[in-house]
Amino acid sequence: MDKRITLLGSTGSIGTQTLDVVRMHGLQIYALAANRNIELLEQQVREFHPKKVCIFEESCYLAFREALADLPVQVLTGMEGLCELAGDSHADLVVNAVVGMVGLQPTLAAIAAGIDVALANKETLVAGGALVMQAAAKKGVSILPVDSEHSAIFQCLQGNAHNPVKGILLTASGGPFFGYTREQLKTVIAADALKHPNWDMGSKVTIDSATMMNKGLECIEAKWLFDLQPEQINVLVHRQSVVHSGVMYADNSVIAQMGVPDMRLPIQYAILYPERKPCPAEPLSLTKYGTLTFAEPDEATFRCLALAKQAMRSGGLLPCIMNAANEIAVRAFLDGKIGFLDIADCVETAMQSIPNQPLQTCEAVLRADRETRELVRLRIYGTTEA
Ligand code: MG
Repeated sequence: MDKRITLLGSTGSIGTQTLDVVRMHGLQIYALAANRNIELLEQQVREFHPKKVCIFEESCYLAFREALADLPVQVLTGMEGLCELAGDSHADLVVNAVVGMVGLQPTLAAIAAGIDVALANKETLVAGGALVMQAAAKKGVSILPVDSEHSAIFQCLQGNAHNPVKGILLTASGGPFFGYTREQLKTVIAADALKHPNWDMGSKVTIDSATMMNKGLECIEAKWLFDLQPEQINVLVHRQSVVHSGVMYADNSVIAQMGVPDMRLPIQYAILYPERKPCPAEPLSLTKYGTLTFAEPDEATFRCLALAKQAMRSGGLLPCIMNAANEIAVRAFLDGKIGFLDIADCVETAMQSIPNQPLQTCEAVLRADRETRELVRLRIYGTTEA
């Protein structure tokens, strides 16, 4: 196994767990990229000896290059650097684990270079799904899902290439506020939302999980990854996060994938696909859980899920607009600038204010993203400045 891997977002939650898997199986790292955590990125460069490294935040570039002056590694920065790294065809696989819309251009760069992509960055498919899937099909590039639900569906599809899918069951933990009323949600703060019951994740996805926007983004991701119609996607609240999702076939048989909630399992499946090897995730003991529960999501309370489904049905640039508004609103909630319920209000206002258009080019996606961010910032902070 001498797959060479480029890892984008190496210092984040998915990034560090990807390196656990790389370490365990003695895989080779060709390149690493991170946003601004120069201490951890330097440590990773010294351990994994990549040929190239990108520090995205340009103000960190000089200090970072200085810190690595004794090593034979090329240091890049900014979006240009990130795309150069992602599109370097010395790698066999790009693992894209960056957070947010910033992941779209490097995904397209990797595809253009004919490199398979293990995708943990959901915003890539939410905002630019049509572009990404078309480009991947044209280049014969595989998009391997890393998100646990999509990995589950991908695993349940193996060996069924000729069997049409009737629908999918996309499971959701429900997050820390499952069962709360809107009245109770008025006063929750970021620290409450960051206590996720099952998964240990970064702050953006943890807040998205609390609002259920995460599941909305995952519906759109699933639509593109598995070429589904919106009505084939069924969200199911499953508090234990043991059944990671499932596929229903024509005969109403459901094949689901189970395991303990540990991201190293789906990460490893994407990287080693189609092989299965030992994984540091614990074995699943169903008797330890005893009971597995399933319920309908409460979309009237958790409006972000309903808004995302609406964006999915409308298509065009609306999912991009929805995603951009959510990114700004989540940041503002984490900073204590707006309340929990304001997140959905910000998203809804942006979806109503910015006219939807067909999605044709990457430039149009980036423009809609920028316009939406400005609009939402203006509403929250009174200025369009970042
Ligand atoms: Mg997920």
